[in-house]
Formats: sequence, C-alpha cells, structure tokens
Amino acid sequence: MILVTGGCGFIGSAFILGWLDGSDEPVVNLDLLTYAGHPGNLQGVAGNPRYHFVHGDIGDQELLGRLLETHQPRAIVNFAAESHVDRSISGPMAFAQTNVVGTLKMLETVNAWWRDRPAREKSDFRFLHVSTDEVFGSLAPDAAAFSESHRYEPNSPYSASKAASDHFVRAWHHTFGLPTLTTNCSNNYGPRQFPEKLIPLIIHNALLGKPLPVYGDGLQVRDWLHVDDHCSALRAVLERGRPGESYNIGGRSERTNLEVVRAICSALDALRPRADGAPYAQLVTHVKDRPGHDRRYAIDDSKIAGELGWKPAVGFEAGIRGTVEWYLGHQDWVDSVTSGAYREWVGQQYAAL
Ligand code: NAD
Repeated sequence: MILVTGGCGFIGSAFILGWLDGSDEPVVNLDLLTYAGHPGNLQGVAGNPRYHFVHGDIGDQELLGRLLETHQPRAIVNFAAESHVDRSISGPMAFAQTNVVGTLKMLETVNAWWRDRPAREKSDFRFLHVSTDEVFGSLAPDAAAFSESHRYEPNSPYSASKAASDHFVRAWHHTFGLPTLTTNCSNNYGPRQFPEKLIPLIIHNALLGKPLPVYGDGLQVRDWLHVDDHCSALRAVLERGRPGESYNIGGRSERTNLEVVRAICSALDALRPRADGAPYAQLVTHVKDRPGHDRRYAIDDSKIAGELGWKPAVGFEAGIRGTVEWYLGHQDWVDSVTSGAYREWVGQQYAAL
C-alpha cells in the first residue's frame, strides 16, 4: 500500500489514476480539498476497492499517525502543497503553513512511526517529496541548466516555501536516516490542471473570446513536461532512486511563454476555429509583469536519465494538442471548477483587463 497526499490536485490525481491502472497495489489519498483539490478528478476510480480517500490535512499529526498505523504504507508520495506563485504573492501564509509547517509535521509523524518498524520494512520504506525546479531561482539565457547541485536561490514566496520543505526532507534523511527522495520538476501541463495556471487559463479564456494575458514581454523561458511523463519519472524514482538523493525532472522542451500561448492558439485554430475565422492569437494581451518574475528555468536531466534510465516520452506540440483536446471535451469539468470564487480571484488578478 502507498499513501499519496494531495491526490485530488492536478499531478496527484494523474499519479493515482496511472498507479491504479498499472499496479494492483492499493492507494490511500489524504487530501484537504482546498480550492485546488477536486474529488471529481478521481471519478474514474471512485468505486475501486484499491482506492481509499481520506479528507484531511497533512499537518494533522493525529490523523496521519492513525493512517500510518492502520495502513502501514511501504511508501509515501507527498504532492500536497499550495502550488500557485501568484497566490503566494498575495497570501504567503498559507504557503508557509502547508508547504513548510505541514511537511515538517509529516516528517515528524512519519519518522516517529518509521523508526519502530521491523528492520526490513524500515529499509524498504520510501518518503518521496515532490518539489519544483523553481527552488533554484532564475537562469541567464546562456547559463547551464539546473543540475541537482545547483545552489538554492528561491525568488517567490512559493519557491521559498518549497525550498524550505526540501531542506527539511533532506535534514530528516541526514539526521534521522529516514529514506527520503526528493524530485525537482519543471512546469507540468496536461488534463485536469486548475485554470489559474498558464496553459489551462489560456485555453479557457480563448474559448470565451477573452484576452489572453501574457506577463510582461512574454519572453520568460520555462521547460515544459507532460504530467504523464512526470508521473512515470516519479514511479522510477520511487522504485529505483537512492535514498537521500534528489532527482531533477524535465521535458527537454524549453519555450518562452509567448511560444506556449501561440502553440495553444494554433491548436485551437485547428480544432475549434472561431466563428469569425480570426486567429486566437489576436486575443493575446500583454499585462504588467509579475513581481520578481524569474526569467528562465531549464533542467539538466542527466542524473535521472543515466541512473534510472528515464526520459520524457510526450513531445511538446503533440502534448499541447492533446491537452487542448481534453479541455474541449471536458467543458463540464471546467465549469465545475471555475466557481464564483475562481471568477472573483481571476477578476482581481487581471483587474487591468
Ligand atoms: P495542485 O494545486 O493542483 O494540488 C494540490 C493538492 O494538494 C490539492 O488537491 C489540495 O487540495 C491538496 N492540499 C493542499 N494543502 C493541503 C494540506 N494541507 N493537506 C492535504 N492536502 C492539501 O498542485 P499540483 O500542480 O498538482 O502540484 C503537486 C505538487 O507538485 C506540489 O507539491 C507542487 O509544488 C509540485 N510541482 C508542481 C508543478 C506544476 O507544474 N504544477 C511542477 C513541479 C512540482
């Protein structure tokens, strides 16, 4: 049995769906169901006897202690987090609470349970912490991509909170011997991503004929990875990664934000042409840049490729097209997550529009 946290979010739900598809091993999903968590993401496994949902906070030590005693997981995969940079600028406390304090409380609880396990179970156990490349800060255009030994230089409250959690995870390995693994992954895209993030936001606005907001000059560079590729990398790290190590995960797909938006517009032009025949790219609107916006992230994936034999399988253009198709076919999902609270938040965010 494995315990997944934050499994009702974008990446966690893809991980659970893939897990139950490819393995007989049961999954317990602990999720607080914040605005970003949707049980509907896991509708496909709702009746599956190998799937068990628990509503709760990773920082609830009593609840987590009970879950560990009851289910005796052989591994934990920690996705639970506040994950949106813009929200971390307007409300950083929630990020400190879940990403830092929540992870720390988990480590304490897990370690207290793990240290009394029989020797074999102790050595086989894994705590996999899912983190981001944003902890490394911003790269110059010609600088070498982030390797695992790159200095931590987080620039946003989000990345600062994830960096802190990574350090605690590392410390629990070095101080207490807990068999931890950390992954630092680039930007994900794919089905079921909450439409506050760039790619689903652009698809959503384009279909409504609304402006497509691009921060500043739109030349910020990110590496993009399909969520299914991220999940296959996580499975590889969980099964074959060395305890105490961290692994960078990337898509070998560096693109400027403007290129990403244009790729979405082209896919939409082909799949759902506008009534007046005008290209979606006409809706692109440059808005005031995000404060402290990192210029470039890029991943050196030679460690995970060399040690674990993992590489991404989904090409960027095909992945974007498939993602656009998914959103076109799941308008009911979009409607169910873009509630009044979502509209209020987007309204505040892009008030200038
Ligand atoms: P998400 O915001 O879509 O989902 C987060 C999930 O965590 C939600 O289901 C939410 O309800 C749950 N959650 C939040 N606080 C919780 C708490 N205190 N206790 C229990 N559950 C809680 O996030 P995502 O995009 O799926 O990201 C998952 C993880 O991957 C995060 O740790 C994030 O930092 C990391 N990551 C994300 C990306 C990306 O591009 N999205 C890239 C690299 C790493």
